[in-house]
Amino acid sequence: MRPRFQRIYICLDACKRSFMILPITYAVVEAETKDSWRWLLLNLCDNLGVDKIRWCTFMSDQQKLKMMMWKAAKATYVQEWERRMKEIQEIFPKINKKIEREFDKGEEWLAIYAGRDKYEVSSSQGNRAKFVVDLNLHECSCRKFQLTGYPCEHAMSCIRKMCLDVKNYVNKCYRKETYVDCYQHVICPLNGPNLWSQTENDDVLPPVFRKAIGHLKLSRNKTGDEPRNNGPLSKLSRTGQQQKCSYCFALGHNKKNLP
Ligand SMILES: [Zn+2]
Repeated sequence: MRPRFQRIYICLDACKRSFMILPITYAVVEAETKDSWRWLLLNLCDNLGVDKIRWCTFMSDQQKLKMMMWKAAKATYVQEWERRMKEIQEIFPKINKKIEREFDKGEEWLAIYAGRDKYEVSSSQGNRAKFVVDLNLHECSCRKFQLTGYPCEHAMSCIRKMCLDVKNYVNKCYRKETYVDCYQHVICPLNGPNLWSQTENDDVLPPVFRKAIGHLKLSRNKTGDEPRNNGPLSKLSRTGQQQKCSYCFALGHNKKNLP
């Protein structure tokens, strides 16, 4: 019995090391089933370590961004390309602007130093709102500091009071060095099959062809630039539009019921 190809799991080391940004892995499987998904995710857990992965949220729908990239790529003149690129920039997080906004809002709060990097922050607007900030732990009781990775307006009031450098309180994932670090790993070039060494084993047989079952094709609202398929001609007649006969090209009948 010769072995038959079933699945292959590929996780390039460079992508694995930079997995905060880059696509991590891909696989070729016999069919998209619960079992093959489970297999892929178990491999991923083995590969990256369960501890690392348990805190991650994976989002697979990059359709909108993909379409915007295509719009920019298809632009035939510079002004159009610049316009499309601006659209893309608007959906990436503008971290500096967000930090500036929080910094300005920090003026509306009064910070009282309590010792050991802890502060009590009260509203200067006369209401009773009050929060506790720990600059050492990068925490505020409003929780925005912890959730976003940059100081909230309450933490900003403490930073302003003590004339500290905001940059020291912004999570390193927002820094340019992190971005550069992420792309430093190299996907090593590979020789062609002419230089591959032969094994003593038999060639692997291709997978058995099987028709996918139980996989529903969901319709999705297409964005403006995506090609639209008007469906079969019979749909036109259902909406009241007359279709041309494919045989004589006259309107109002088809090849089957020729007058
Ligand atoms: Zn806060």
